[in-house]
Amino acid sequence: MKKLLALPAFSDNYLWLLHNGQHALVVDPGDAQPVLAALQAHGVQLQTILVTHHHPDHIGGVDELRQATGAAVYGPARERIPEPLTRLAQGHTVHALGLEFSVIDVPGHTAGHIAYYCADANTDEQGSPLLFCGDTLFSAGCGRLFEGTPAQMLASLDALAALPGHTRVCCTHEYTLSNLKFARAVEPGNAALFDYQARCQALRAADLPTLPSTLAQELQINPFLRSRQADVIAAAVAHNPSGPRDEAGIFASLREWKNNYR
Ligand code: ZN
Ligand code: FE
Repeated sequence: MKKLLALPAFSDNYLWLLHNGQHALVVDPGDAQPVLAALQAHGVQLQTILVTHHHPDHIGGVDELRQATGAAVYGPARERIPEPLTRLAQGHTVHALGLEFSVIDVPGHTAGHIAYYCADANTDEQGSPLLFCGDTLFSAGCGRLFEGTPAQMLASLDALAALPGHTRVCCTHEYTLSNLKFARAVEPGNAALFDYQARCQALRAADLPTLPSTLAQELQINPFLRSRQADVIAAAVAHNPSGPRDEAGIFASLREWKNNYR
């Protein structure tokens, strides 16, 4: 049996820690301190560090954790990440804690961004698949396009959306409530958004994470996974009437709308 923990870091990051009571893996440790504290609190030893992309809030603690624990580091093939690490791309697998994680290329937020998918994580919620998607997919949102194109991000989100609906989506930022404000502006008639927003507001009021989400949930409420729905297309076109109307163009209009939304 494995335990999945969301360790808060900085203002709104989560460092995901998975452990089996003896050994642990951590994803995107932007800061070593919360990880070291959790390892000590749970009496577990860090074996594996998984990195999704090169941004400092995802790699800042890697060197310190490697030195403190001797953990093996895995990361994307084409990004600048401190060595030594094993470089991964689409189709590669990582074995850790007796689990197999497959690597999915998800360019868009950064050019070489990868995600890690485990089909059967054997956690407390029995048998749920797990997805560590870095800054690609957020609950009710997606990452900004710093290095990739809208078409790339759309294809990356399509690849994630094709995973089983009960996959638990471990996003690295608590952006859910602000994303939901935007989602409701895009789809004022989507009733699932009201219910989900109420649940997330209650979680945040109790100082609890809104994550992990599930893919089935995201498919109902995330405008960036719903950019081919008639209502979402209509909203994107109304917001940017002169924008291109192909799939990538609609997605681009939606992403730009969100960039400027307050
Ligand atoms: Zn990032
Ligand atoms: Fe980030």
